[in-house]
Amino acid sequence: MATQITAGTSELRDITKMERIGAHSHVRGLGLDDRLEPRENSQGMVGQGKARKAAGMILRMVQEGRIAGRAILFAGPPSTGKTAIALGMAQTLGQDVPFTMIAASEVFSLSMSKTEALTQAIRRSIGVRIREETEIIEGEVVEIQIDRSLTGATKTGKLTIKTTDMETIYDLGTKMIDALSKEKVLAGDVIIIDKTSGKVSKLGRSFTRSRDYDAMGADTKFVQCPEGEIQKRKEVVHTVSLHEIDVINSRTQGFLALFAGDTGEIKPELREQINTKVAEWREEGKAEIIPGVLFIDEVHMLDIECFSFLNRALENELSPLVIMASNRGMSRIRGTNVRSPHGLPVDLLDRVLIVSTRPYSEEEIQQIIQIRCEEEDVTLTSDSLNVLTSMASSTTLRYALNLISCAQMISRKRKAEQVSVEDLRRAYTYFMDEKRSVQWLKEQQGSLVF
Ligand code: ATP
Repeated sequence: MATQITAGTSELRDITKMERIGAHSHVRGLGLDDRLEPRENSQGMVGQGKARKAAGMILRMVQEGRIAGRAILFAGPPSTGKTAIALGMAQTLGQDVPFTMIAASEVFSLSMSKTEALTQAIRRSIGVRIREETEIIEGEVVEIQIDRSLTGATKTGKLTIKTTDMETIYDLGTKMIDALSKEKVLAGDVIIIDKTSGKVSKLGRSFTRSRDYDAMGADTKFVQCPEGEIQKRKEVVHTVSLHEIDVINSRTQGFLALFAGDTGEIKPELREQINTKVAEWREEGKAEIIPGVLFIDEVHMLDIECFSFLNRALENELSPLVIMASNRGMSRIRGTNVRSPHGLPVDLLDRVLIVSTRPYSEEEIQQIIQIRCEEEDVTLTSDSLNVLTSMASSTTLRYALNLISCAQMISRKRKAEQVSVEDLRRAYTYFMDEKRSVQWLKEQQGSLVF
């Protein structure tokens, strides 16, 4: 039972996080204004206004800590932006709010049980913001909070000096701290730092009248010392996920396991110890829990056992916001013969908020194609933009977006700067969309091995 619970460092990045961003690299946020109204074409997002607004509202609730333990379902036809919106949400969340993305089928792996895979995904989506005290290093960016009387003894306010400029830090930070410790300045004393010479001197407590300050000129900085001892230590805050804490503590080379993505199963007893430790840190004010977001794509691929597990997990105090996406209508719940909307059991459906996404208009499709072309640095002739737009309408948006880079390769071969209609046509004949592939399969039924 001597496992030492450590929290790791803020630089730690879990490289096992799936990064399905290639196709979505143009998405930089949800494209909403301050009132959460969707802008027409912003941050790489076009159309799907209601769903984007709903996503923005959900995020606000996450940020206000009001929605942990709930679940959201994005339901809509293929290629209607469910994943794009989820990624837009991820971009909008703060740096230290964890966002984990998995495809439901990843849960069925040989190396660990389904519930272990789900538990890891859930714990990756819960952040622990840890506060620690460390020594201030000379020249480092520091934040100094001091009481300062500017216009006389009656008016006392707080002044925060926050700067990334090394010289200013040196002047206002290190010198002040050095001077204070050498001269034994007491709380309430006023010290002066001359910005040009860097000279620090002490004035004493009587120096409070505003005209005295005015007489000193603009190059003089007044600092009234804080109550109590001068801090030579500062508080640092970093955020790690519960999963990272689990892995680091589950084996001697925990860090390496995280980097290799080979975390294996983690013993429930260890998780309990970690939960207890984190609860202690919270009570002592050293840590704070940040419920993040777990996005499960193609959620209909989960089976009934996974759904019951998720349902229970959502009731746990340490639960992230779970966002699911499905492009299925009525379908069978895996592991049963029961048919249900989106392939989800009714008890889970009962607790989710459903956000629907709908097919795009031609105009929206064209704008998305244009955004993708800019992102991939591809120029289409105006004719080929129209042709690709109608291809997207008769196949899927995703297929059309995939054709962009294929057609560009073809155009490069003939050393052309722009992708022509003919380049697109050729790409269209090389790569099939789903409908044509199914048609082809039907035609080949006699000669294929099934
Ligand atoms: P599926 O059900 O097949 O998983 P989906 O609804 O998750 O589909 P996405 O993968 O998000 O669809 O969308 C297909 C492509 O179109 C992606 O490249 C995505 O970035 C882009 N896209 C979709 N909607 C938008 C949008 N509103 N604005 C900009 N790009 C979009």
